[in-house]
Amino acid sequence: MSDLALRLEAIRERIHRACVSCGRAPESVDLLAVSKFHSVEQVREAAALGLRAFGENYVQAGCAKAEALPDLNFVLIGPLQRNKAKPALLHFRELMTLDRPELALRLRPLAEELNVRCGVWIQLDLWGEATKIGGCPEEGIPALVGALGQDPRLPLQGFMAIPPPGMDTAFLQLAKLRETWQQRLGFPLRLSMGMSDDLEKAILAGTDQVRIGTALFGERA
Ligand SMILES: *Cc1c(COP(=O)(O)O)cnc(C)c1O
Repeated sequence: MSDLALRLEAIRERIHRACVSCGRAPESVDLLAVSKFHSVEQVREAAALGLRAFGENYVQAGCAKAEALPDLNFVLIGPLQRNKAKPALLHFRELMTLDRPELALRLRPLAEELNVRCGVWIQLDLWGEATKIGGCPEEGIPALVGALGQDPRLPLQGFMAIPPPGMDTAFLQLAKLRETWQQRLGFPLRLSMGMSDDLEKAILAGTDQVRIGTALFGERA
């Protein structure tokens, strides 16, 4: 077995064990493979092992991979600038880092013009770290949801977050906010949280998706 195959098996085993330990079905947790800084060849190898969805942090690099591998789904998990909105909408299946109304208001007419549909996630920052990694604070959610306006071209999938390392309450805080907002909106919202080092805690708190880079592809160059 290749290194990649072994690592994938180890991650699936971790997900399985974490789910069993809290009474969840292992299929209830999606694995998003984070391929930033890894080559098209490595993504192709991962696809051959059955992975279909890949997270990319940079619009340009992600678009290049999406063009090279048109059968796979690429998802933007890094910051989106307004001037990259067009290539992002054309190449990514989902945009996970929506964090301000201006971005939603830029994407909506553009999605109409390009005749595309793209799932969007709100990236949350409940811990005041937005200057580093982006993210919408809790009090910013209403305006952002309002700006999206339940546009059928940009369906809201859920909340994504990168909590500060070691902050054990963060995942539960996010899970609670998901509950609140899905009741308020009247449709289900998914949660994407948990990475190589903390996927077990995220699963225990109820995440629907973990985003795994290092534990799958190895250290980034
Ligand atoms: C890089 C990255 C990941 C993957 O992190 P690992 O610790 O390598 O698993 C997940 N989510 C986002 C937003 C990232 O930028």
